[in-house]
Amino acid sequence: MIAVVVVLVAVAGFVLAGAVAWRERRHFVAAEESRRRHDEMYRRHEDEVAESETRLRLSLDAITQGVVMADADGNVLHRNPYARQFTDARHGEALVEAAVAELLAEAAEGRAVEREVELFGPPRRCMFVNALPLELGGRNYGSAALIDDITEPQRLDAMRRDFVANISHELRTPMGALSLLAETLAAESNPEVASRLAVRVQAEAIRLSAIMDDLLELSRIESDEAAERAPVAVQELINDAFSRLKPAADEKQVPTEAVLPALDMVVWADRRQIASAVYNLLDNAVKHSEAHQTVRVSARLAGGCVEVEVRDRGCGIPLRHQKRIFERFYQVDRSRERTDGGVGLGLAIVRHVATNHGGEVRVESTEGEGSSFTLVLPAADEASTAEAAEAASRQEAAAALPIGAGG
Ligand code: ADP
Repeated sequence: MIAVVVVLVAVAGFVLAGAVAWRERRHFVAAEESRRRHDEMYRRHEDEVAESETRLRLSLDAITQGVVMADADGNVLHRNPYARQFTDARHGEALVEAAVAELLAEAAEGRAVEREVELFGPPRRCMFVNALPLELGGRNYGSAALIDDITEPQRLDAMRRDFVANISHELRTPMGALSLLAETLAAESNPEVASRLAVRVQAEAIRLSAIMDDLLELSRIESDEAAERAPVAVQELINDAFSRLKPAADEKQVPTEAVLPALDMVVWADRRQIASAVYNLLDNAVKHSEAHQTVRVSARLAGGCVEVEVRDRGCGIPLRHQKRIFERFYQVDRSRERTDGGVGLGLAIVRHVATNHGGEVRVESTEGEGSSFTLVLPAADEASTAEAAEAASRQEAAAALPIGAGG
Protein backbone atom coordinates (compact mmCIF):
# COMPACT_ATOMS: atom_id res chain seq x y z
CA MET A 1 0.00 0.00 0.00
CA ILE A 2 2.76 2.36 1.00
CA ALA A 3 4.58 1.43 -2.11
CA VAL A 4 1.53 2.24 -4.22
CA VAL A 5 1.20 5.63 -2.52
CA VAL A 6 4.89 6.33 -3.08
CA VAL A 7 4.55 5.41 -6.73
CA LEU A 8 1.45 7.60 -7.08
CA VAL A 9 3.16 10.52 -5.39
CA ALA A 10 6.19 10.04 -7.60
CA VAL A 11 4.00 9.92 -10.73
CA ALA A 12 2.07 12.99 -9.56
CA GLY A 13 5.35 14.80 -8.87
CA PHE A 14 6.65 13.80 -12.25
CA VAL A 15 3.47 14.94 -14.00
CA LEU A 16 3.51 18.24 -12.06
CA ALA A 17 7.15 18.87 -12.88
CA GLY A 18 6.41 18.15 -16.54
CA ALA A 19 3.45 20.53 -16.47
CA VAL A 20 5.55 23.27 -14.88
CA ALA A 21 8.33 22.72 -17.40
CA TRP A 22 5.83 22.76 -20.24
CA ARG A 23 4.29 26.01 -18.93
CA GLU A 24 7.73 27.60 -18.58
CA ARG A 25 8.62 26.51 -22.05
CA ARG A 26 5.37 28.07 -23.36
CA HIS A 27 6.14 31.34 -21.54
CA PHE A 28 9.65 31.29 -22.91
CA VAL A 29 8.42 30.75 -26.50
CA ALA A 30 5.79 33.48 -26.10
CA ALA A 31 8.39 35.89 -24.65
CA GLU A 32 10.77 35.05 -27.51
CA GLU A 33 8.03 35.67 -30.04
CA SER A 34 7.10 38.98 -28.45
CA ARG A 35 10.76 40.05 -28.34
CA ARG A 36 11.24 39.10 -31.98
CA ARG A 37 8.11 41.08 -32.93
CA HIS A 38 9.29 44.03 -30.87
CA ASP A 39 12.75 43.92 -32.47
CA GLU A 40 11.20 43.79 -35.89
CA MET A 41 8.94 46.76 -35.13
CA TYR A 42 11.93 48.65 -33.78
CA ARG A 43 13.98 47.87 -36.89
CA ARG A 44 11.11 48.91 -39.14
CA HIS A 45 10.71 52.12 -37.18
CA GLU A 46 14.47 52.76 -37.42
CA ASP A 47 14.35 52.18 -41.20
CA GLU A 48 11.45 54.61 -41.51
CA VAL A 49 13.30 57.24 -39.48
CA ALA A 50 16.46 56.76 -41.61
CA GLU A 51 14.37 56.94 -44.79
CA SER A 52 12.62 60.16 -43.84
CA GLU A 53 15.95 61.62 -42.69
CA THR A 54 17.47 60.80 -46.09
CA ARG A 55 14.45 62.30 -47.84
CA LEU A 56 14.79 65.46 -45.76
CA ARG A 57 18.52 65.70 -46.46
CA LEU A 58 18.03 65.20 -50.20
CA SER A 59 15.33 67.88 -50.21
CA LEU A 60 17.61 70.29 -48.36
CA ASP A 61 20.44 69.48 -50.77
CA ALA A 62 18.23 70.24 -53.75
CA ILE A 63 17.43 73.76 -52.50
CA THR A 64 19.23 76.52 -54.41
CA GLN A 65 19.68 78.44 -51.19
CA GLY A 66 22.17 77.73 -48.43
CA VAL A 67 20.74 75.88 -45.40
CA VAL A 68 22.71 75.26 -42.17
CA MET A 69 21.07 73.47 -39.21
CA ALA A 70 22.47 73.44 -35.68
CA ASP A 71 21.37 71.67 -32.46
CA ALA A 72 20.41 73.49 -29.25
CA ASP A 73 24.10 73.70 -28.26
CA GLY A 74 25.03 75.38 -31.51
CA ASN A 75 26.76 72.33 -33.09
CA VAL A 76 26.20 72.25 -36.84
CA LEU A 77 24.24 69.11 -37.79
CA HIS A 78 23.79 69.63 -41.50
CA ARG A 79 24.93 71.96 -44.25
CA ASN A 80 23.52 71.59 -47.75
CA PRO A 81 25.91 71.75 -50.77
CA TYR A 82 25.13 75.42 -51.47
CA ALA A 83 26.12 76.34 -47.90
CA ARG A 84 29.20 74.09 -48.05
CA GLN A 85 30.86 76.38 -50.63
CA PHE A 86 31.44 78.88 -47.82
CA THR A 87 33.15 76.51 -45.36
CA ASP A 88 36.93 76.61 -45.58
CA ALA A 89 36.49 79.49 -48.03
CA ARG A 90 39.13 82.13 -48.25
CA HIS A 91 38.81 85.77 -49.18
CA GLY A 92 35.31 87.30 -49.28
CA GLU A 93 33.35 84.03 -49.02
CA ALA A 94 34.75 83.46 -45.53
CA LEU A 95 32.67 86.48 -44.42
CA VAL A 96 29.51 84.50 -45.17
CA GLU A 97 30.64 81.59 -43.00
CA ALA A 98 31.48 83.97 -40.17
CA ALA A 99 28.05 85.62 -40.46
CA VAL A 100 26.35 82.19 -40.42
CA ALA A 101 28.17 81.20 -37.21
CA GLU A 102 27.36 84.48 -35.46
CA LEU A 103 23.71 84.52 -36.50
CA LEU A 104 23.21 80.84 -35.54
CA ALA A 105 24.55 81.65 -32.06
CA GLU A 106 22.09 84.54 -31.74
CA ALA A 107 19.21 82.43 -33.06
CA ALA A 108 20.05 79.73 -30.49
CA GLU A 109 19.07 82.30 -27.85
CA GLY A 110 15.62 82.57 -29.40
CA ARG A 111 15.99 85.60 -31.71
CA ALA A 112 15.40 85.66 -35.49
CA VAL A 113 18.24 87.69 -37.03
CA GLU A 114 19.42 88.68 -40.52
CA ARG A 115 22.34 90.40 -42.24
CA GLU A 116 23.51 91.40 -45.75
CA VAL A 117 27.09 90.45 -46.58
CA GLU A 118 28.85 92.27 -49.45
CA LEU A 119 31.49 90.22 -51.29
CA PHE A 120 33.71 92.52 -53.27
CA GLY A 121 34.67 89.80 -55.77
CA PRO A 122 35.24 89.84 -58.59
CA PRO A 123 32.49 89.21 -59.32
CA ARG A 124 30.90 91.49 -56.78
CA ARG A 125 28.09 89.67 -54.97
CA CYS A 126 25.66 90.40 -52.18
CA MET A 127 24.52 87.59 -49.87
CA PHE A 128 21.59 87.69 -47.47
CA VAL A 129 21.94 85.52 -44.36
CA ASN A 130 19.11 85.01 -41.88
CA ALA A 131 18.88 82.66 -38.90
CA LEU A 132 15.89 81.60 -36.82
CA PRO A 133 15.34 79.51 -33.71
CA LEU A 134 13.68 76.12 -34.22
CA GLU A 135 11.07 75.93 -31.48
CA LEU A 136 7.90 73.91 -31.02
CA GLY A 137 5.61 73.70 -28.00
CA GLY A 138 8.08 75.63 -25.87
CA ARG A 139 10.92 73.19 -26.68
CA ASN A 140 14.13 74.35 -28.32
CA TYR A 141 15.28 72.15 -31.24
CA GLY A 142 18.24 74.31 -32.24
CA SER A 143 18.49 76.89 -35.01
CA ALA A 144 18.70 77.15 -38.82
CA ALA A 145 20.45 79.65 -41.07
CA LEU A 146 19.49 80.40 -44.70
CA ILE A 147 21.89 81.94 -47.24
CA ASP A 148 20.61 83.72 -50.37
CA ASP A 149 22.46 85.31 -53.27
CA ILE A 150 20.55 88.57 -53.77
CA THR A 151 22.94 90.10 -56.32
CA GLU A 152 20.54 89.68 -59.27
CA PRO A 153 17.34 90.83 -57.49
CA GLN A 154 19.26 93.85 -56.18
CA ARG A 155 20.56 94.64 -59.68
CA LEU A 156 17.07 94.35 -61.17
CA ASP A 157 15.65 96.51 -58.44
CA ALA A 158 18.28 99.19 -59.05
CA MET A 159 17.58 98.99 -62.81
CA ARG A 160 13.85 99.38 -62.20
CA ARG A 161 14.44 102.41 -59.95
CA ASP A 162 16.79 103.97 -62.53
CA PHE A 163 14.31 103.28 -65.29
CA VAL A 164 11.44 104.98 -63.46
CA ALA A 165 13.69 107.91 -62.49
CA ASN A 166 14.88 108.28 -66.11
CA ILE A 167 11.38 108.15 -67.56
CA SER A 168 10.13 110.73 -65.07
CA HIS A 169 13.10 112.95 -65.87
CA GLU A 170 12.66 112.63 -69.65
CA LEU A 171 8.94 113.27 -69.51
CA ARG A 172 9.18 116.15 -67.08
CA THR A 173 11.03 118.42 -69.56
CA PRO A 174 8.54 118.33 -72.46
CA MET A 175 5.60 118.31 -70.05
CA GLY A 176 6.96 121.41 -68.29
CA ALA A 177 7.54 123.14 -71.62
CA LEU A 178 4.05 122.23 -72.81
CA SER A 179 2.41 123.58 -69.72
CA LEU A 180 4.40 126.83 -69.87
CA LEU A 181 3.68 127.30 -73.57
CA ALA A 182 -0.03 126.62 -73.07
CA GLU A 183 -0.16 129.15 -70.23
CA THR A 184 1.55 131.84 -72.35
CA LEU A 185 -0.64 130.98 -75.31
CA ALA A 186 -3.80 131.38 -73.27
CA ALA A 187 -2.76 134.91 -72.24
CA GLU A 188 -1.54 135.93 -75.72
CA SER A 189 -3.72 138.35 -77.71
CA ASN A 190 -1.36 138.91 -80.66
CA PRO A 191 -2.35 136.30 -83.30
CA GLU A 192 1.16 136.18 -84.80
CA VAL A 193 2.83 135.39 -81.47
CA ALA A 194 0.03 132.97 -80.64
CA SER A 195 0.62 131.11 -83.88
CA ARG A 196 4.39 130.85 -83.16
CA LEU A 197 3.60 129.52 -79.70
CA ALA A 198 1.19 126.99 -81.18
CA VAL A 199 3.97 125.69 -83.46
CA ARG A 200 6.21 125.20 -80.42
CA VAL A 201 3.40 123.43 -78.57
CA GLN A 202 3.09 121.09 -81.51
CA ALA A 203 6.87 120.44 -81.58
CA GLU A 204 6.89 119.57 -77.85
CA ALA A 205 3.87 117.30 -78.33
CA ILE A 206 5.66 115.50 -81.18
CA ARG A 207 8.75 115.11 -79.00
CA LEU A 208 6.65 113.70 -76.18
CA SER A 209 4.98 111.22 -78.45
CA ALA A 210 8.39 110.16 -79.88
CA ILE A 211 9.59 109.42 -76.34
CA MET A 212 6.44 107.38 -75.66
CA ASP A 213 6.92 105.51 -78.96
CA ASP A 214 10.53 104.61 -78.04
CA LEU A 215 9.47 103.47 -74.58
CA LEU A 216 6.65 101.33 -75.92
CA GLU A 217 8.87 99.89 -78.64
CA LEU A 218 11.58 98.93 -76.14
CA SER A 219 9.10 97.38 -73.74
CA ARG A 220 7.42 95.45 -76.60
CA ILE A 221 10.75 94.15 -77.88
CA GLU A 222 11.87 93.19 -74.38
CA SER A 223 8.73 91.17 -73.74
CA ASP A 224 8.73 89.68 -77.23
CA GLU A 225 11.90 87.60 -77.05
CA ALA A 226 10.34 84.52 -78.60
CA ALA A 227 8.61 86.39 -81.41
CA GLU A 228 7.70 84.54 -84.61
CA ARG A 229 10.56 84.31 -87.09
CA ALA A 230 10.13 84.50 -90.86
CA PRO A 231 12.38 85.19 -93.86
CA VAL A 232 12.78 88.95 -94.31
CA ALA A 233 14.49 90.47 -97.36
CA VAL A 234 17.23 92.92 -96.33
CA GLN A 235 16.63 95.05 -99.39
CA GLU A 236 13.01 95.57 -98.38
CA LEU A 237 14.01 96.59 -94.85
CA ILE A 238 16.42 99.17 -96.14
CA ASN A 239 13.93 100.56 -98.67
CA ASP A 240 11.30 100.92 -95.94
CA ALA A 241 13.73 102.65 -93.56
CA PHE A 242 14.88 105.01 -96.33
CA SER A 243 11.29 105.97 -97.18
CA ARG A 244 10.54 106.77 -93.54
CA LEU A 245 13.73 108.81 -93.21
CA LYS A 246 13.58 110.64 -96.52
CA PRO A 247 11.87 113.83 -95.22
CA ALA A 248 14.41 114.27 -92.38
CA ALA A 249 17.39 113.44 -94.65
CA ASP A 250 16.13 115.82 -97.34
CA GLU A 251 15.61 118.59 -94.84
CA LYS A 252 19.19 118.22 -93.57
CA GLN A 253 20.52 117.64 -97.10
CA VAL A 254 22.07 114.37 -96.02
CA PRO A 255 22.44 112.02 -99.02
CA THR A 256 21.69 108.32 -98.41
CA GLU A 257 22.87 105.34 -100.44
CA ALA A 258 22.61 101.56 -100.26
CA VAL A 259 25.18 99.03 -101.43
CA LEU A 260 23.80 95.52 -101.69
CA PRO A 261 26.06 93.09 -103.57
CA ALA A 262 23.24 90.55 -103.78
CA LEU A 263 19.58 91.43 -103.93
CA ASP A 264 18.52 88.08 -102.47
CA MET A 265 19.94 88.58 -98.98
CA VAL A 266 17.43 87.36 -96.45
CA VAL A 267 17.49 87.24 -92.67
CA TRP A 268 15.53 84.86 -90.45
CA ALA A 269 13.88 87.30 -88.12
CA ASP A 270 10.90 89.03 -86.61
CA ARG A 271 10.10 91.60 -89.28
CA ARG A 272 8.89 94.37 -87.00
CA GLN A 273 11.83 94.12 -84.63
CA ILE A 274 14.42 94.10 -87.41
CA ALA A 275 12.75 97.00 -89.20
CA SER A 276 12.87 98.96 -85.95
CA ALA A 277 16.60 98.19 -85.46
CA VAL A 278 17.60 99.17 -89.02
CA TYR A 279 15.48 102.32 -88.81
CA ASN A 280 17.08 103.36 -85.51
CA LEU A 281 20.61 102.94 -86.90
CA LEU A 282 19.79 104.96 -90.01
CA ASP A 283 17.93 107.59 -88.00
CA ASN A 284 20.98 108.06 -85.75
CA ALA A 285 23.29 108.27 -88.76
CA VAL A 286 21.17 111.01 -90.35
CA LYS A 287 20.73 112.81 -87.02
CA HIS A 288 24.48 112.97 -86.42
CA SER A 289 25.48 114.02 -89.94
CA GLU A 290 25.73 117.46 -91.45
CA ALA A 291 24.65 118.55 -94.95
CA HIS A 292 26.38 116.61 -97.78
CA GLN A 293 27.83 113.97 -95.45
CA THR A 294 26.59 110.76 -97.05
CA VAL A 295 24.98 108.02 -95.00
CA ARG A 296 25.65 104.63 -96.53
CA VAL A 297 24.07 101.32 -95.72
CA SER A 298 25.55 98.09 -96.99
CA ALA A 299 24.91 94.40 -96.40
CA ARG A 300 27.05 91.30 -96.88
CA LEU A 301 26.91 87.59 -96.13
CA ALA A 302 29.50 86.30 -93.65
CA GLY A 303 29.58 82.81 -92.12
CA GLY A 304 25.84 82.07 -92.12
CA CYS A 305 25.01 85.62 -91.06
CA VAL A 306 23.96 88.79 -92.78
CA GLU A 307 25.88 91.88 -91.67
CA VAL A 308 24.05 95.15 -92.19
CA GLU A 309 26.38 98.11 -91.84
CA VAL A 310 25.26 101.73 -91.45
CA ARG A 311 28.13 104.17 -91.96
CA ASP A 312 28.09 107.93 -91.64
CA ARG A 313 30.67 110.72 -91.96
CA GLY A 314 29.19 112.69 -89.06
CA CYS A 315 30.49 113.83 -85.68
CA GLY A 316 31.59 110.37 -84.47
CA ILE A 317 31.49 109.09 -80.89
CA PRO A 318 34.31 109.67 -78.37
CA LEU A 319 35.96 106.36 -77.40
CA ARG A 320 35.05 106.70 -73.72
CA HIS A 321 31.33 106.70 -74.59
CA GLN A 322 31.37 103.84 -77.09
CA LYS A 323 30.95 101.06 -74.50
CA ARG A 324 27.93 102.72 -72.89
CA ILE A 325 25.86 103.98 -75.82
CA PHE A 326 23.81 100.75 -75.91
CA GLU A 327 22.56 101.27 -72.35
CA ARG A 328 19.04 102.57 -71.89
CA PHE A 329 18.84 106.36 -71.61
CA TYR A 330 22.57 106.79 -72.22
CA GLN A 331 23.33 109.90 -74.24
CA VAL A 332 26.68 111.30 -75.23
CA ASP A 333 25.66 114.92 -75.10
CA ARG A 334 22.37 115.40 -73.31
CA SER A 335 22.03 119.10 -74.08
CA ARG A 336 22.43 118.46 -77.81
CA GLU A 337 20.21 115.37 -77.87
CA ARG A 338 17.38 117.31 -76.29
CA THR A 339 17.02 119.33 -79.47
CA ASP A 340 17.40 116.20 -81.64
CA GLY A 341 14.47 114.54 -79.88
CA GLY A 342 16.15 111.31 -78.65
CA VAL A 343 16.16 110.06 -75.09
CA GLY A 344 18.88 107.43 -75.43
CA LEU A 345 16.66 104.43 -76.17
CA GLY A 346 17.40 103.90 -79.89
CA LEU A 347 20.57 101.84 -79.50
CA ALA A 348 19.14 99.96 -76.50
CA ILE A 349 16.36 98.84 -78.88
CA VAL A 350 18.94 97.82 -81.54
CA ARG A 351 20.98 95.79 -79.05
CA HIS A 352 17.90 94.07 -77.70
CA VAL A 353 16.72 93.12 -81.19
CA ALA A 354 20.19 91.73 -82.00
CA THR A 355 20.30 89.58 -78.83
CA ASN A 356 16.72 88.40 -79.34
CA HIS A 357 17.85 87.03 -82.72
CA GLY A 358 21.08 85.48 -81.45
CA GLY A 359 23.04 88.19 -83.27
CA GLU A 360 25.00 91.23 -82.15
CA VAL A 361 25.61 94.89 -82.90
CA ARG A 362 29.11 96.41 -83.19
CA VAL A 363 30.30 99.97 -83.33
CA GLU A 364 33.42 101.55 -84.75
CA SER A 365 33.73 105.30 -84.57
CA THR A 366 36.27 108.09 -84.67
CA GLU A 367 35.45 111.46 -83.26
CA GLY A 368 35.08 114.02 -86.03
CA GLU A 369 35.25 111.37 -88.78
CA GLY A 370 32.08 109.35 -88.45
CA SER A 371 30.67 106.07 -87.19
CA SER A 372 29.91 102.61 -88.44
CA PHE A 373 27.32 100.36 -86.78
CA THR A 374 27.10 96.70 -87.87
CA LEU A 375 24.04 94.62 -87.10
CA VAL A 376 24.77 90.87 -87.39
CA LEU A 377 21.75 88.60 -87.89
CA PRO A 378 21.30 84.93 -88.80
CA ALA A 379 20.78 84.42 -92.55
CA ALA A 380 17.71 82.47 -93.69
CA ASP A 381 18.07 79.06 -95.42
CA GLU A 382 18.23 78.82 -99.23
CA ALA A 383 14.56 78.00 -99.90
CA SER A 384 13.29 80.91 -97.77
CA THR A 385 15.92 83.15 -99.34
CA ALA A 386 14.72 82.37 -102.89
CA GLU A 387 11.08 82.89 -101.94
CA ALA A 388 11.69 86.19 -100.12
CA ALA A 389 13.99 87.51 -102.85
CA GLU A 390 11.28 86.91 -105.44
CA ALA A 391 8.79 88.84 -103.32
CA ALA A 392 11.33 91.62 -102.83
CA SER A 393 12.05 92.02 -106.52
CA ARG A 394 8.28 92.14 -107.20
CA GLN A 395 7.94 94.88 -104.60
CA GLU A 396 10.99 96.65 -106.07
CA ALA A 397 9.49 96.63 -109.55
CA ALA A 398 6.12 97.84 -108.28
CA ALA A 399 7.49 100.62 -106.11
CA ALA A 400 10.22 101.58 -108.64
CA LEU A 401 12.10 103.01 -105.70
CA PRO A 402 15.73 103.21 -106.80
CA ILE A 403 18.17 102.07 -104.15
CA GLY A 404 21.11 104.40 -103.89
CA ALA A 405 19.07 107.41 -104.84
CA GLY A 406 18.11 108.56 -101.35
CA GLY A 407 18.72 112.02 -99.91
P1 ADP B 1 18.76 108.45 -79.03
O1 ADP B 1 17.54 107.59 -79.11
O2 ADP B 1 18.65 109.56 -78.05
O3 ADP B 1 19.28 108.86 -80.36
P2 ADP B 1 20.58 106.26 -78.94
O4 ADP B 1 20.42 105.18 -77.95
O5 ADP B 1 20.14 105.96 -80.32
O6 ADP B 1 19.88 107.55 -78.37
O7 ADP B 1 22.10 106.67 -78.99
C1 ADP B 1 22.82 106.85 -77.79
C2 ADP B 1 23.90 107.88 -77.97
O8 ADP B 1 24.82 107.44 -78.95
C3 ADP B 1 23.35 109.21 -78.45
O9 ADP B 1 23.43 110.08 -77.36
C4 ADP B 1 24.26 109.66 -79.55
O10 ADP B 1 25.03 110.74 -79.09
C5 ADP B 1 25.21 108.52 -79.80
N1 ADP B 1 25.10 108.06 -81.20
C6 ADP B 1 24.33 107.08 -81.67
N2 ADP B 1 24.49 106.90 -83.00
C7 ADP B 1 25.40 107.83 -83.37
C8 ADP B 1 26.01 108.18 -84.62
N3 ADP B 1 25.72 107.53 -85.75
N4 ADP B 1 26.90 109.17 -84.61
C9 ADP B 1 27.23 109.83 -83.48
N5 ADP B 1 26.70 109.55 -82.27
C10 ADP B 1 25.80 108.57 -82.22
